[in-house]
Amino acid sequence: MKSKQLSNYGIISLLVIMVSCQPSGRIYEGAVCIHNIHTIDAESGLLKNQTVIVKGEKILKIAPSQELKLAPENTIIDGQGKFLIPGLWDAHVHFAYIEELAPVMFNLFLGYGITSVRDTGGKIDFVKKWKSKAEADPTAAPRVKIAGPLMDGKPNVYDGSIPTRPELSEGFATVEAAVKRVDELAALGVDLIKAYEMLSPEQFKAITKRARELNLNVTGHIPLSMDAITASKGFNSIEHLRNLEMSMTANPTILLAQRRKLLEEGKNEAGGDLRARLHDAQRYAAIELIDTVQRDKVIQALLENDTWQVPTLTLASGAKNKHFTKSVYQSSFNYLPEKISKQWKEGAAIAAGVIATPSRAAYADWVVEISSILHKAKVEFMAGTDCPIYFLTPGLSLHTELEMMSKAGMSPTEVLKAATLNPARYFDMEEELGLIKEGYIADLLILDANPLENISNTQKINTVIKSGKSYDRATLDAMLRKGSE
Ligand SMILES: [Zn+2]
Repeated sequence: MKSKQLSNYGIISLLVIMVSCQPSGRIYEGAVCIHNIHTIDAESGLLKNQTVIVKGEKILKIAPSQELKLAPENTIIDGQGKFLIPGLWDAHVHFAYIEELAPVMFNLFLGYGITSVRDTGGKIDFVKKWKSKAEADPTAAPRVKIAGPLMDGKPNVYDGSIPTRPELSEGFATVEAAVKRVDELAALGVDLIKAYEMLSPEQFKAITKRARELNLNVTGHIPLSMDAITASKGFNSIEHLRNLEMSMTANPTILLAQRRKLLEEGKNEAGGDLRARLHDAQRYAAIELIDTVQRDKVIQALLENDTWQVPTLTLASGAKNKHFTKSVYQSSFNYLPEKISKQWKEGAAIAAGVIATPSRAAYADWVVEISSILHKAKVEFMAGTDCPIYFLTPGLSLHTELEMMSKAGMSPTEVLKAATLNPARYFDMEEELGLIKEGYIADLLILDANPLENISNTQKINTVIKSGKSYDRATLDAMLRKGSE
């Protein structure tokens, strides 16, 4: 009996000594510790039960949770059963398309987990204003990269003549004027150049040459006066797969000659009308006449020139799939300023009742099909939407685009890569953004469900972290609602 009491006493003493000797865990002052979360990025895939320490705007440390004991004094987010992914990019947006909407776009993007955007066309003063505003406080806005105006020929398409063609472009009459503008835009701080459909081959070649000298990427639409194989040499990326099909038929030179004739005959028309006429004359016929040999030559050129694709599938298939009829879109319209909300609700109701013509329906299917073929051939992709055009709610629409890319045969990891690591690579930021790594910028999303099981789970956003600042769900909801106030 006595000996047992002694022995109990001995064990208790030992426990007391063990507890007092064991460190109570590390303290990371001024940091946020995301404890015991599954991390996912395009390089490492899924890593279970990690602790990720965010300090300032960077990821300070990552370690398996069992190896990193945290003191209770830390600011801890419980990541149990949740998933951490890099913040998402929308690689094709327009702050200037509806100028009254621009002031609420930051909150919409962050509210839906979009931590970076690439503005692909708008008046330079206007888009620069939003870029500067974002840079002034990176924790309160998405990262904004800008192209400045669409660089177009004469007549230019987005000339401000009607509401659906706001003045997003500048039309140049000569090669010299276009090159001079590239220099000016570079000096004004654009991050890339966007070349548009009415440029002459000479203008296009001179613009892309100058941009390359200035170390600026060029994106855009294949000029109607050119074939895809030649134009690919100047493009780092192409938006909406625009005009690729015209070079994928058995006789692309015949179609090219016809386009050049129509461009010459229509040079005094409004640019938007002329372009629409050329699209109508060739696009739908071309997708019926795709020649696999010629198609593969175009794909080969895209690979050789490392020309990436931003297919904007939600937009391109919108006439058939009508994303805007879904309840999630209808309710997202409530986050828009009152006047725009009303316009979109009415406009969407009308568009919902318009049955897509067989040609448009066929095109909606073709964009998904060709994206799948391009992806299998290892052409690189970025996820972009074209919001706020065609009832594409900023932020929400990127998630629909991720679902569409998944429908085009990309795996969830590949889809995430197109919305995280690839845009970072595009802007030479892959050493600091787009992955979950120590020293990287802390643009992160905490999701309640696994996006590798279903890409739609990118919509189950629990927390957004932008340049190190955390926004929980209640705060994000309040930010979204602010758009209508
Ligand atoms: Zn666009």
